Amino acid sequence: MPDDLILIVEDEPSIAEVVGLYLKRAGYGVIFAQDGIEAQDKIETKSPNLIVMDLMLPIIDGFELTRWLRARDDTPIIMLTARRDEVDRIAGLEMGADDYILKPFSPQEVVSRVRAVLRRTNPKPGESGEQPLEFPSMTIDPQTRLVTIDGREIVLTAKEFDTLWLLAQHPRQVFTRNHVLERVWGISDYIDPSTVTVHIRRLREKIEPNPSEPQHLITVWGVGYKFEP
Ligand code: CA
Repeated sequence: MPDDLILIVEDEPSIAEVVGLYLKRAGYGVIFAQDGIEAQDKIETKSPNLIVMDLMLPIIDGFELTRWLRARDDTPIIMLTARRDEVDRIAGLEMGADDYILKPFSPQEVVSRVRAVLRRTNPKPGESGEQPLEFPSMTIDPQTRLVTIDGREIVLTAKEFDTLWLLAQHPRQVFTRNHVLERVWGISDYIDPSTVTVHIRRLREKIEPNPSEPQHLITVWGVGYKFEP
């Protein structure tokens, strides 16, 4: 959406400049930081809607900066990296980046990814028109992204919510781990499907009365997972 503010954290001025130019042309507000410390300052003072972050940064690298950010909130992160061997870590559990782009990339690709991630992580109220899902003991509200169980509000991370939302929209339909990856992460090629397993486990710890005997998030052995209302 135009008016969204994008923070570009990149220590190579030529890359920051061209990415910033394309994002501005696409209607976004753009601010810059050259290292992790400056990024923390901009995040605290400007509250950007999305962060495009280089993995390799001076002082505080992209991993550390992401951990710091995730301890605060779920602001979407798109990680830039030249290191294919780091992709699993970036997109996987430890990091919680929402997407990544391998260098070298075209600036237009960054714009497309920014659009896609904002659409996925931050649907404007009313835009999607999706109604809360009501089950006997659970309500899942896509507008507030809150899950309420027996009157108790459960806080989920963005990916946990998206995973639950996907399964709960289609009760009893079985989803393979790759299907969940594709729909929730959107980048199934490079992520270990066990990422889904770990997210399901965390979800169970949050929403199941007894996580070792789940009533809602059921494993279908050899196939995947399904939601049982
Ligand atoms: Ca760099």
